[in-house]
Amino acid sequence: MMENDVTHRSKEDFRFRDTRLCFTLPATLGDRGSTQPFERMRSPEDLGRWCVESGLLDRAPAVDEQKLAKAISLRESLQRIGESIATRRSPDLSDIAQVNVAASVEVIPQLSEDAASVRWVAGGVEAALSRVARDAVDLFSGSFRDRIRICANPKCQGLFVDESRPGLRRWCSMTTCGDQAKKARFRKKAHS
Ligand SMILES: [Zn+2]
Repeated sequence: MMENDVTHRSKEDFRFRDTRLCFTLPATLGDRGSTQPFERMRSPEDLGRWCVESGLLDRAPAVDEQKLAKAISLRESLQRIGESIATRRSPDLSDIAQVNVAASVEVIPQLSEDAASVRWVAGGVEAALSRVARDAVDLFSGSFRDRIRICANPKCQGLFVDESRPGLRRWCSMTTCGDQAKKARFRKKAHS
Protein backbone atom coordinates (compact mmCIF):
# COMPACT_ATOMS: atom_id res chain seq x y z
CA MET A 1 0.00 0.00 0.00
CA MET A 2 1.27 3.41 -0.98
CA GLU A 3 0.82 5.14 2.39
CA ASN A 4 2.81 2.48 4.19
CA ASP A 5 5.66 2.63 1.74
CA VAL A 6 8.28 4.72 3.47
CA THR A 7 10.10 5.66 0.28
CA HIS A 8 6.96 7.19 -1.22
CA ARG A 9 5.65 8.77 1.93
CA SER A 10 5.02 12.49 2.03
CA LYS A 11 4.75 14.71 5.07
CA GLU A 12 0.97 14.95 4.64
CA ASP A 13 0.52 11.18 4.96
CA PHE A 14 -0.80 9.86 8.24
CA ARG A 15 1.53 7.84 10.48
CA PHE A 16 0.48 4.35 11.50
CA ARG A 17 3.74 2.47 11.81
CA ASP A 18 5.72 1.67 14.92
CA THR A 19 3.12 2.69 17.46
CA ARG A 20 -0.09 1.86 19.22
CA LEU A 21 -3.48 2.75 17.80
CA CYS A 22 -4.13 5.30 20.56
CA PHE A 23 -0.97 7.20 19.61
CA THR A 24 -1.67 7.24 15.88
CA LEU A 25 -4.28 9.94 16.52
CA PRO A 26 -1.82 12.29 18.36
CA ALA A 27 0.60 11.62 15.47
CA THR A 28 -1.74 13.47 13.11
CA LEU A 29 -0.05 16.62 14.43
CA GLY A 30 3.59 16.46 13.42
CA ASP A 31 6.60 18.41 14.68
CA ARG A 32 4.89 18.98 18.03
CA GLY A 33 8.03 20.30 19.66
CA SER A 34 8.70 22.90 16.98
CA THR A 35 7.33 26.43 16.76
CA GLN A 36 5.36 25.36 13.68
CA PRO A 37 3.62 22.04 14.29
CA PHE A 38 2.46 20.28 11.13
CA GLU A 39 -1.32 19.69 10.98
CA ARG A 40 -2.40 16.60 9.02
CA MET A 41 -6.03 16.86 10.14
CA ARG A 42 -6.98 20.03 8.33
CA SER A 43 -10.53 19.29 7.21
CA PRO A 44 -13.43 16.98 8.11
CA GLU A 45 -12.50 14.93 5.02
CA ASP A 46 -9.04 14.33 6.49
CA LEU A 47 -10.61 12.81 9.60
CA GLY A 48 -12.85 10.62 7.44
CA ARG A 49 -9.82 9.43 5.50
CA TRP A 50 -7.92 8.77 8.74
CA CYS A 51 -10.76 6.52 9.96
CA VAL A 52 -10.37 4.38 6.83
CA GLU A 53 -6.57 4.40 6.55
CA SER A 54 -6.28 3.46 10.22
CA GLY A 55 -8.41 0.39 9.45
CA LEU A 56 -11.06 1.44 11.97
CA LEU A 57 -13.84 1.84 9.41
CA ASP A 58 -14.24 0.39 5.96
CA ARG A 59 -15.64 3.54 4.45
CA ALA A 60 -15.28 7.22 5.27
CA PRO A 61 -17.94 8.36 7.74
CA ALA A 62 -19.82 11.65 7.55
CA VAL A 63 -17.72 14.21 9.38
CA ASP A 64 -18.45 17.89 9.96
CA GLU A 65 -16.41 20.67 11.55
CA GLN A 66 -17.89 19.93 14.99
CA LYS A 67 -16.87 16.27 14.86
CA LEU A 68 -13.43 17.27 13.65
CA ALA A 69 -13.06 19.66 16.60
CA LYS A 70 -14.09 16.87 19.00
CA ALA A 71 -11.56 14.46 17.49
CA ILE A 72 -8.79 17.04 17.77
CA SER A 73 -9.74 17.72 21.35
CA LEU A 74 -9.53 13.96 22.13
CA ARG A 75 -6.23 13.82 20.25
CA GLU A 76 -4.71 16.53 22.45
CA SER A 77 -6.01 14.88 25.63
CA LEU A 78 -4.33 11.62 24.59
CA GLN A 79 -1.07 13.45 23.90
CA ARG A 80 -1.15 15.23 27.28
CA ILE A 81 -1.97 12.07 29.24
CA GLY A 82 0.76 10.14 27.39
CA GLU A 83 3.30 12.86 28.14
CA SER A 84 2.23 12.92 31.79
CA ILE A 85 2.73 9.18 32.15
CA ALA A 86 6.06 9.26 30.30
CA THR A 87 7.35 12.03 32.56
CA ARG A 88 5.78 10.63 35.78
CA ARG A 89 3.40 13.53 36.31
CA SER A 90 -0.29 13.42 37.22
CA PRO A 91 -2.57 13.76 34.23
CA ASP A 92 -5.26 16.40 34.07
CA LEU A 93 -8.72 15.23 35.16
CA SER A 94 -10.40 16.99 32.24
CA ASP A 95 -8.23 14.96 29.84
CA ILE A 96 -9.20 11.73 31.60
CA ALA A 97 -12.88 12.71 31.35
CA GLN A 98 -12.49 13.37 27.63
CA VAL A 99 -11.05 9.88 27.02
CA ASN A 100 -13.75 8.25 29.12
CA VAL A 101 -16.54 10.00 27.22
CA ALA A 102 -15.05 8.90 23.88
CA ALA A 103 -14.60 5.32 25.15
CA SER A 104 -18.22 5.09 26.28
CA VAL A 105 -19.60 4.98 22.73
CA GLU A 106 -20.63 1.40 22.18
CA VAL A 107 -19.03 -0.59 19.38
CA ILE A 108 -19.90 -4.21 18.75
CA PRO A 109 -17.47 -6.69 17.19
CA GLN A 110 -18.98 -9.13 14.70
CA LEU A 111 -17.10 -12.05 13.21
CA SER A 112 -16.94 -12.22 9.40
CA GLU A 113 -18.38 -15.21 7.52
CA ASP A 114 -14.98 -16.85 7.07
CA ALA A 115 -14.25 -16.29 10.77
CA ALA A 116 -11.05 -14.49 9.78
CA SER A 117 -11.80 -10.85 10.45
CA VAL A 118 -13.88 -8.54 12.55
CA ARG A 119 -16.44 -6.00 11.44
CA TRP A 120 -17.39 -3.25 13.90
CA VAL A 121 -21.07 -2.53 14.08
CA ALA A 122 -22.05 1.06 14.93
CA GLY A 123 -20.41 3.06 12.23
CA GLY A 124 -19.51 6.67 12.31
CA VAL A 125 -16.55 8.59 13.49
CA GLU A 126 -17.63 8.22 17.13
CA ALA A 127 -17.22 4.44 16.86
CA ALA A 128 -13.73 4.83 15.42
CA LEU A 129 -12.74 7.28 18.15
CA SER A 130 -14.25 5.00 20.78
CA ARG A 131 -11.84 2.26 19.77
CA VAL A 132 -8.93 4.71 19.91
CA ALA A 133 -10.00 5.78 23.41
CA ARG A 134 -10.45 2.16 24.55
CA ASP A 135 -6.98 1.35 23.31
CA ALA A 136 -5.72 4.24 25.45
CA VAL A 137 -7.59 2.88 28.48
CA ASP A 138 -5.93 -0.51 27.93
CA LEU A 139 -2.47 0.94 27.43
CA PHE A 140 -2.51 3.48 30.25
CA SER A 141 -3.78 0.94 32.78
CA GLY A 142 -1.79 -2.04 31.52
CA SER A 143 1.67 -3.54 31.81
CA PHE A 144 3.17 -1.32 29.08
CA ARG A 145 2.32 1.85 30.98
CA ASP A 146 5.96 2.17 32.10
CA ARG A 147 7.12 1.84 28.52
CA ILE A 148 5.32 4.93 27.22
CA ARG A 149 7.97 7.30 25.86
CA ILE A 150 8.32 10.66 24.15
CA CYS A 151 10.49 10.70 21.04
CA ALA A 152 14.01 11.94 21.77
CA ASN A 153 13.84 14.30 18.79
CA PRO A 154 12.86 17.58 20.52
CA LYS A 155 11.17 18.84 17.36
CA CYS A 156 8.96 15.73 17.17
CA GLN A 157 7.75 14.86 20.68
CA GLY A 158 5.77 11.94 19.26
CA LEU A 159 4.55 9.30 21.70
CA PHE A 160 5.37 5.62 21.35
CA VAL A 161 5.42 2.42 23.37
CA ASP A 162 8.84 0.83 23.80
CA GLU A 163 8.23 -2.91 23.46
CA SER A 164 11.89 -3.77 22.96
CA ARG A 165 13.33 -6.16 25.51
CA PRO A 166 16.04 -3.82 26.90
CA GLY A 167 13.64 -0.86 26.86
CA LEU A 168 16.11 1.56 25.33
CA ARG A 169 14.18 2.68 22.28
CA ARG A 170 14.55 6.44 21.81
CA TRP A 171 12.73 7.38 18.62
CA CYS A 172 9.09 7.32 17.56
CA SER A 173 10.26 5.65 14.36
CA MET A 174 13.58 4.46 12.99
CA THR A 175 12.51 5.52 9.50
CA THR A 176 11.96 9.15 10.47
CA CYS A 177 13.49 10.58 13.68
CA GLY A 178 15.87 7.66 14.27
CA ASP A 179 17.17 7.92 10.73
CA GLN A 180 17.63 11.70 11.00
CA ALA A 181 19.62 11.26 14.20
CA LYS A 182 21.78 8.60 12.58
CA LYS A 183 22.54 10.87 9.61
CA ALA A 184 23.29 13.83 11.91
CA ARG A 185 25.76 11.70 13.89
CA PHE A 186 27.36 10.56 10.65
CA ARG A 187 27.74 14.16 9.40
CA LYS A 188 29.26 15.25 12.71
CA LYS A 189 31.75 12.40 12.53
CA ALA A 190 32.65 13.25 8.94
CA HIS A 191 33.34 16.88 9.90
CA SER A 192 35.46 16.19 12.96
ZN1 LIG B 1 9.98 11.30 16.51
